[in-house]
Amino acid sequence: MRLVLLGAPGSGKGTQATRLREHLQVPHISTGDLLRAAVAAGTELGMQAKVVMASGNLVSDDIVLGMLEERLLRSDADNGFILDGYPRNLAQANALEKLLEKIKQPVDVAVQLDVNTDLLVERIAGRAKAEGRADDTPEAVRHRLNVYNEQTAPVVDFYRNHGSLVHVDGIGTLDEVFNRIIAAISHTHDVG
Ligand code: AMP
Repeated sequence: MRLVLLGAPGSGKGTQATRLREHLQVPHISTGDLLRAAVAAGTELGMQAKVVMASGNLVSDDIVLGMLEERLLRSDADNGFILDGYPRNLAQANALEKLLEKIKQPVDVAVQLDVNTDLLVERIAGRAKAEGRADDTPEAVRHRLNVYNEQTAPVVDFYRNHGSLVHVDGIGTLDEVFNRIIAAISHTHDVG
């Protein structure tokens, strides 16, 4: 199962991806996590990314694509993956399509988690308290939501046009949303 998880910041992508990883037995690949690991490791790339991430802007397409390709080529991704946080714009959606064509692993389904803006802001504020992420300041959050609306929202149409999009209502308990995702993707694969 090769799944792309789409949704605004705070839509619950990360939480659902963790559940899906256990259920589908494929790795959860989050470009945000890959970038945060590079920042924590203090690599050259991490140092470049750090400032950009703290502002709520997108890290350059080239940097993120390079990291993603390296991760996708690891053998644990041979049987599929859950992509979280990528693609973030149309250029990335096209680059991903090319990359996955090259490694003969096309996307099976893109799941869009629908959550309204008020709830997003509320959830991110809660997470800011719990996790202390550098980019969860009110200013950076507002900016990330703008970046999402301007650059990432068109990616939903990209997958709709490819016929691989399913929408899932992202409001509810963790279990409710998880069960909706499983129901929504069951036609694409035997997901148990
Ligand atoms: P996330 O954990 O997905 O919310 O990502 C946190 C931050 O990492 C984003 O606000 C961006 O600065 C950066 N980031 C994560 N994924 C990408 C991506 N696919 N392209 C560019 N920047 C990204």
